[in-house]
Amino acid sequence: MGTDSRCRERDPDLAVVPGGGARHRGVHHARLARFAQGAGDSFLELLAVLAPVECVCCGSEDSALCGTCARHLRLLCSRPFRAEGQAPALLTVDGTVLLPVVAGGHYRDELAQALLSFKHLGQGRLASVLAPALGTAIRSAVGDGEGICLVPVPSSNAAFRRRGFSPVHLLLGRLRRLDALPGMHLADALKTAPGPGNGQKGLGRGERARRVRGSMTVRLLRKGSLEGRACVIVDDVLTTGATLAEAARAVSAAGGVVCGAVVLAATRPPAGRDLPTGGPAALPESTQTKNK
Ligand SMILES: [Zn+2]
Repeated sequence: MGTDSRCRERDPDLAVVPGGGARHRGVHHARLARFAQGAGDSFLELLAVLAPVECVCCGSEDSALCGTCARHLRLLCSRPFRAEGQAPALLTVDGTVLLPVVAGGHYRDELAQALLSFKHLGQGRLASVLAPALGTAIRSAVGDGEGICLVPVPSSNAAFRRRGFSPVHLLLGRLRRLDALPGMHLADALKTAPGPGNGQKGLGRGERARRVRGSMTVRLLRKGSLEGRACVIVDDVLTTGATLAEAARAVSAAGGVVCGAVVLAATRPPAGRDLPTGGPAALPESTQTKNK
């Protein structure tokens, strides 16, 4: 790498760093900056995981999520609920449900803050709190889920390049390692097609839905593996539902029987719309029967 000489110039052992006082963690920050210069953002994210941290919610020291905030988060995710009623892309104009969705919790407070930090600030340790919450939602949705294929929604190519990881894949992988999804298969079958599906931020609902359509496809090597299988789509956050609808379309096109979806968190419905009326948090009965 061509950064060697630059690094040496900035090495505090070889040159006096101006303003390098005795501030706590000052040396640490200098090292961070030096490394980041040569190795880019993903390395910085990795270091952020290894470096001393503060609670991402309340700022108390020495833990990515303090005990109190972790308890609040678990409480927010203790009662999964049906959430498709607040996602316009998952309903027809007359209100018929196109895709039932179970959400672990509402996207707010500690859950929103932890999820944001996990996704964008590289706070990988938060997976230890977020993964169990996703697991609870999945088990609530599919019961024992024997034979169900869990199909994670892929990150957009741009998001993956930026973060270097896919949040949903990471959470599901953790649950599998902990054997928290017994009898279920993890089918990493979807990928984003290059092109228009990426970069939906700031787009209106209609434009977002148009961009996302046709943006996912089943991996070539996975073609056939979903044929006739009961599938549940898994994503981190539900907003309009356009992404879940597209994932369901791609899985159905590959022969999968889409029973519904599970998300960790659902954003609040737009003002004026009612929250779901506390219906059963399970996906419809067909989820279990289709599978037999
Ligand atoms: Zn806290």
